[in-house]
Order: sequence, then C-alpha cells, then structure tokens
Amino acid sequence: MTAPPHGGRLVQRELSESDRARRDSELAHLPKIRPAIDDLYDAEQIATGAYSPLEGFMDRATFERVLATNRLPNDLPWSMPILLTPPGPENAATIAGVKPGDDVAILDDMGRFIAVLHLSEKFTPDRAAWAKATYGTNEVQHPNVADIQATGDVALAGKIDLVRRLDLPTGTDEMTPVDTRAFFEKKGWKRVAAYQCRNPPHTAHEYLQRLTLERDDVDALLIHPVVGRLKKGDYRPDVILESYRALVKNYHSPDRVHLAAFSITMRYAGPKAALFLAIVRQNFGCTSYIVGRDQAGVGKYYDPYACHKIFDEYPLGIQALRYDEAWLCKRCGWMATMKTCPHPASDRVDTSQTRIRKALSDGQPLPAEILRPEVAEILRQPNVTQG
Ligand SMILES: [Zn+2]
Repeated sequence: MTAPPHGGRLVQRELSESDRARRDSELAHLPKIRPAIDDLYDAEQIATGAYSPLEGFMDRATFERVLATNRLPNDLPWSMPILLTPPGPENAATIAGVKPGDDVAILDDMGRFIAVLHLSEKFTPDRAAWAKATYGTNEVQHPNVADIQATGDVALAGKIDLVRRLDLPTGTDEMTPVDTRAFFEKKGWKRVAAYQCRNPPHTAHEYLQRLTLERDDVDALLIHPVVGRLKKGDYRPDVILESYRALVKNYHSPDRVHLAAFSITMRYAGPKAALFLAIVRQNFGCTSYIVGRDQAGVGKYYDPYACHKIFDEYPLGIQALRYDEAWLCKRCGWMATMKTCPHPASDRVDTSQTRIRKALSDGQPLPAEILRPEVAEILRQPNVTQG
C-alpha cells in the first residue's frame, strides 16, 4: 500500500476534456485575474491533489491558524500558507469589483484560462506576520520574504477548478499524485521514499539516496526535484533534470529509482518547508521522506537540525528519514557522517556547490568522488544557470 493522502482523500479538481470546451466559452464572461507564476503552480498542485486536503486557496481563518499553529482548522498538520494574491493595479481593479459568491477566471501570462476560482472571501493578509511566522524573519534579503513584499495586497480565497494544466518547460517529466501512485502500483513498489532536491546531484546527495535504498523498509526511491520559478544563479530546470537523468541512468537501478519533476516555487522556510514538502510527498504516495541537514534552509536563518525536530512535533502519515550531513573524508577514504567518521573537519573534502560551480566554470577537473563524470559533463555546458 502506498501512503494514504494527507487527510484521507486525494483532492481532484481538474475539469474533464468535455467540461473544458464548455468552460472556455463561459470563462470569457468572468472577471479575469492574472496571478504570479507562484500562485499558478499552486493552483495546479491543489487541483491535482498534491496539496490535499486543500481544495482551494486559503481564507483568513485558515491562513491565521496555519501561521499560529502549523495546523489547518480541522487540526491536520500544515505549515505553509497557500494564498492567491494577484499583484499589480490591473488585478487590483478586478479584485475591487468581485465579491464572495462570484466566479473568477484565473489566467496565465499568455492569457490562457487555467482555473476558475469560486470566491468565498477577500482579505488583506498581514505581510509582516506571514513572513515572520513562516520564515522566521522580516528581512528582505530572505528570497521568500522579498516575494511576500511583491504580492498583491488582497488575497482571494475559495475552491478552484483547474481548466488546463500550465505550459511548463518540464512537460512530460511532470507527474501528478495520480500518476505517481499508478506508477508505483505498476512497479509493485509499496514503500517509496521521496528525495527532495533542487540542485544537480553530487556524491553526498547520492550517498543519502544509497543509504535509503539499503533500508529494509524502502522498496524504491522517487527523486523529486523542485523545478519552479528561477532565481538568478539557480540551475535551469532542464539542467537539473538532465543531470539527475544521467545519475539515475548510470548509477541507479531502474527497478528501484524513478525521477519526476515537481513545479512549485521553492519556499526556504527551513523546518516549516521540510514539513510541508513531506506532506506533499505523502500525497504523491510516498511512505518515507529523506531529510538531510538544513533542508530548505537559506543563509543562516535556521538551526540546521530544526528540519529534523519538527517531525517529532507533527506526526504524519509519511515517515521522516533524518540524516546527518554527509561528506567525503580523506582519511576514511569514503563518504562519512558524524556517526561514522572520527576525523577532524580538516580531513573533509570540500564538496560544496560553491566549489563545484567554481571548478566547472574555471574548466578545472573534478574528482569522480565529488561529481559523477556524466553529471559533470552536463554542468560544463555554457549557461546552465539563470543569468
Ligand atoms: Zn573520516
């Protein structure tokens, strides 16, 4: 049995093919909003069940309860506000004219109908409280705090129906929870561990994947990189996926490892992000979730092990597999952690992204103990990151 969805039922709010044609003509007459891509990703994830039990964007009571308690009004753990806050004067004018009970058409930046919002409430979220409770700070140096500053003033709450999926560069690599659950069943995988990532893999990542595959309570691994909106300096989604494809093809068994893309905006909320990302993977059918050191951290905002501790406080239907930081130790001649290596930090090989990126951009060779050559080859291509 794959994991039951969070809350027991996989939400499905996607219109069928026949409904879609009818809907397009009806939608033409509705008030139209064009949210930021972050909210469009969320709309699709809500409708396809990745955010179960959410059926739409949060209202004020839900938003405030999540900030205060990391729980939904029905008491289920949930750590991330999911708000629809279309920015800009054009959206603001539309929003001023709609009221609860109205249907509102959600459009992408190409003007295509993506979803219908059944508006239940309009409210003004307290941005400072939102940032402080979720990210632990109000400093705009934090990328997601800057995002919150850029949102529209008014949040639109209500259930949504997805009219069509987003036109994403990751295309066929995307899988919905229905897709992954069917895939696991076809493969006969009952206990699947999810691996969250957002950078090309080096050997410390691969080490955690291998440790997980050695466990007797894990049948298989879903490598599930977050490939949403890009920040300057981020690896492009196709590069992340290509590099993982190279790793999976050359170093993992197709009978035990699968790669799928997951398009959402990354929230660097440390422990709260780890809890959220685990809940979501439960909805994809995974039974365990790998949590390394300082997962979803940025800068020095979070205790690197807070992302482990939060799982003690909020038990889920998915098991957290918590790992210490792993490194390559010159004396051990192997990957190691605090649990297995008695040597000082000076014996560790620097496997940081900073070093890897510098070596690649300088055309310097990298030992295979740090980066698989097939992965290095992909990362050596020009313009692998967003300029
Ligand atoms: Zn050692």
